[in-house]
Amino acid sequence: MHNKTLAELSAGIKSGEFSSEELTLSYIQRIQKLDGQLNSFITVTEKLALQQARAADKRIAAGQADALTGVPLAHKDIFCTDGVRTSCGSKMLDNFIAPYDASVVSRFKQAGMVTLGKTNMDEFAMGSSNETSFYGAVKNPWDLDTVPGGSSGGSAAAVAARLVPAATGTDTGGSIRQPAALTGITGLKPTYGRVSRYGMIAFASSLDQAGPMTRTAEDAALMLNVMAGFDERDSTSMDRAVPDYTAELNQDLKGLKIGLPKEYFGEGLDAGVAKAVEAAIEEYKKLGAEVVEISLPNTGLSVPTYYVVAPAECSSNLSRFDGVRFGYRCEDPKDLEDLYKRSRGEGFGDEVKRRILVGAYALSAGYYDAYYLKAQKLRRLISDDFTKAFEQVDVIMGPTSPSVAFKRGERSDDPVSMYLSDIFTIAANLAGLPGMSVPAGFAGKLPVGLQIIGNYFEESRLLNVAHQYQQVTDWHTRAPEEFK
Ligand code: GLN
Repeated sequence: MHNKTLAELSAGIKSGEFSSEELTLSYIQRIQKLDGQLNSFITVTEKLALQQARAADKRIAAGQADALTGVPLAHKDIFCTDGVRTSCGSKMLDNFIAPYDASVVSRFKQAGMVTLGKTNMDEFAMGSSNETSFYGAVKNPWDLDTVPGGSSGGSAAAVAARLVPAATGTDTGGSIRQPAALTGITGLKPTYGRVSRYGMIAFASSLDQAGPMTRTAEDAALMLNVMAGFDERDSTSMDRAVPDYTAELNQDLKGLKIGLPKEYFGEGLDAGVAKAVEAAIEEYKKLGAEVVEISLPNTGLSVPTYYVVAPAECSSNLSRFDGVRFGYRCEDPKDLEDLYKRSRGEGFGDEVKRRILVGAYALSAGYYDAYYLKAQKLRRLISDDFTKAFEQVDVIMGPTSPSVAFKRGERSDDPVSMYLSDIFTIAANLAGLPGMSVPAGFAGKLPVGLQIIGNYFEESRLLNVAHQYQQVTDWHTRAPEEFK
């Protein structure tokens, strides 16, 4: 059962091949048996899942099922889940039971999907390797000594190891796409504003966006059908019609114009990754696409720009964790100041502190113009590069990550080398554009991801382009040996 896609599971439930309860139980058993090796879950909501599954079975019997009713999924532990611990991978929120559901979570509940639990992640979504989690590192099912990417590394590892058929993730600078690439799954970061951020613990509000992590593009389309849509509780949510994202999956790609940015194929790119991505582009040519070399001249500025904007926003967002209202509070505070200092000092990990310090510095009166304002200007230049490129091409392709999964510990003492993991993904967040990572082969025994970036609100096109590739390749069906 665990090798079936969402689309197949949904068909199996509807035809009576298995019930949602049977399906849910089989996934819970798989998690219990195998997650000890991966650490991809922070919380498994076994009881809740079985209750939801039984309710889904009733709904199906009553003929009131939606497309994904009864099918299980897991949520990144950044989404508030009513009555369930929502830790964001941090000691700060280890004791936090959310009193309400994030909009994304309630949409999946309404659709009748079953929540298996909450997945591990880098602390407050800050990281590219899942090593900053308070709950310990997540392991990549393709090689247990390597990282699964981050920050949505728990979701990625769980989907890749078939512990869940799909999971939610969030992407501020690459946290859906990069772990998807490193674990050989499909991940989609929608256009900024397409999916509600309400109830999603904020990291950098102008960049954060939730999206699906699945094995196939078709499954990502099914998930996005549920996730996308206007929400008055998120002031940056777009009030714009939601298409049926499965409707255009089967369009052929004749005449599709693919832009290959020359900046994405230069120095710093692993040879094995380059080879796999080039082979994927050849497949697209066979499918009738035309390839155009383009330039995104400000690519080199995206990492430094992001590492001013994201820390600035996080220093402000994380000021709410003060030991007073919710989350961790230090023991026996002497006075209020001691309570703030020690609660934050003890509750946050090193990477989070580093970002808060950088952000507070960049926003301080004397440095605001030199850093924050400057970064905002660069952000505009970076998004203008894309606007120009999309006058010429329909989609942009390149590698998702410059390397395959790296060894645990290899970059954790060197923040800059870690930050460079997101060199190809960050620009789409700065510009607010949708981006996808699709399994495109292997370098050695580790998966490689092809990144596809689209114009604003062109998720349907991205999904179509990914799905057509998945009709002629089988990379997305490969499973790590011990998790088949
Ligand atoms: N790796 C990037 C960072 O550490 C992106 C994280 C994310 O997208 N949440 O900030």
